[in-house]
Amino acid sequence: MADLICSMACKHRSKRPSRKWRHKDGRPCYACTLNYVYISRVFDMDGDICAVAGENNMAHCTFYEPIEGPEGDEGV
Ligand code: SF4
Repeated sequence: MADLICSMACKHRSKRPSRKWRHKDGRPCYACTLNYVYISRVFDMDGDICAVAGENNMAHCTFYEPIEGPEGDEGV
């Protein structure tokens, strides 16, 4: 099973940095607190998102819940 590291400012992301994982440049990594998540392709009926973001960026977590307010604006 994979360890799930997430960079989104999401309500389900751990508030504490991972003790096991860290970015190569030393920045902390944060884990998802859910038991499972569902990753699917972004809804993109006319292909505009894919044209701009690229196919490699079309996956998204369907359980993502943005943190609103100052904490969610930090951009991780
Ligand atoms: S629910 Fe999805 S977006 Fe939210 S922390 Fe977990 S993996 Fe990241």
